[in-house]
Amino acid sequence: MNKFFDDLEIRSPLQRETENNLRLSTMVDGAYLRSKRVREMLDDLNLKPSDIASVGDLEELPVTSREEVVELQRQEPPFGGLCAADVDAARIFTSPGPVYEPHLGEGELWARGYFAAGFRKGDRVLNTFSYHMVAAGLTFHEGLRSVGATVIPSGTSGTETQVQLIRDLGVTGYTGTPSFLIAIIRKAEELGYDFKRDFKLRRASFVAEPLQPSLRKSFEEEYGIDTYQMYGATEVGDIAYECSEKAGWHVCDDVIVEIVDPSTGRGVRPGQLGEVVVTRLNDLFFLLRFGTGDLSSMLQEDCPCGRTSLRLRGIAGRVGDAVKVRGMFVAPSQVARVREAFPGVTFQVVVTRESYRDLLTVVVVDDEGYAAVGATRFGDVFSTVCAVRIDRIETVREGLYEEGKPLIDKRGWE
Ligand SMILES: [Zn+2]
Repeated sequence: MNKFFDDLEIRSPLQRETENNLRLSTMVDGAYLRSKRVREMLDDLNLKPSDIASVGDLEELPVTSREEVVELQRQEPPFGGLCAADVDAARIFTSPGPVYEPHLGEGELWARGYFAAGFRKGDRVLNTFSYHMVAAGLTFHEGLRSVGATVIPSGTSGTETQVQLIRDLGVTGYTGTPSFLIAIIRKAEELGYDFKRDFKLRRASFVAEPLQPSLRKSFEEEYGIDTYQMYGATEVGDIAYECSEKAGWHVCDDVIVEIVDPSTGRGVRPGQLGEVVVTRLNDLFFLLRFGTGDLSSMLQEDCPCGRTSLRLRGIAGRVGDAVKVRGMFVAPSQVARVREAFPGVTFQVVVTRESYRDLLTVVVVDDEGYAAVGATRFGDVFSTVCAVRIDRIETVREGLYEEGKPLIDKRGWE
């Protein structure tokens, strides 16, 4: 049995880079001819299409956020000049905003994620995404089809109907949000079924919602469901997916992902946290450098599964929630990971500024839990997880500045 969806997944990094550069050049050439927005953007910047010849050259172009796509399309309906006005697309989807986007391609969209999750011919998969107007239902449907699975387009039907389908059709797999799957399981239990014993559903691929580690554990251990995550955005399609290692998300082979400092649009250093910016290599919808607003970083190690693509370290949060300390982003989710490492320690991160320098202080309750860990170990784990050093640890007897808030920015901006 094939281990990979195709050979693109196991290209050498150099080969991938060379091929991506070539595909990007071709895309920019096509965009200059067919997208009014790209043409105007390059002209305004005094750039020729040939100036964007490699992934690194993308930094010459601005990042475009979802809000900006909405605004572009409002000014110039329906596509904001991001594709040819007479685009020959199989479908045109819409999502809240509204944003209009031509269907981004047949076949491979989402297929890598489903393949890596182990879906194959013979599987019967419940697709609980909406098929109405939005891209989700149909694009996930086609992704499942391209790995050979049979799809039950149950869409947003109620939980009782979903339980009935799982029972009557011998459903083996699920795709949708984790919260909806747990609601279906609860409904089945309410109806008197033992989910693991009575049903065949053993595999789930989640997208569009974070999968909490405790919920994942419950799916896998209590219900015997092997769970996987995929990541994407309506504007650019699939971006990354988990493999069986379940440690990081492989970047899809048809997208270029950059991790940038949202204030400058420039790449951060390898391994650092920044905004996920995506360019889908295609010849239809010329959205270059889409800013997802999500924070992540790239893992530096190779994946034991054999895929050679870069891997995202999950999503650390939204750009607006993070605090920048000496040029490095710290997200509340990173602080939460430190909390998980030391469940007995009560602490809070406070960022201030002294003499134009950012200071990171950890205010910690001086109790038995903290005494057991000690400042050195705490500091080591903190700087590994958050990639920034603690300047000062301040111990208090009890009571933190703001209860429940993991990360406080007390800097005034002049
Ligand atoms: Zn892998």
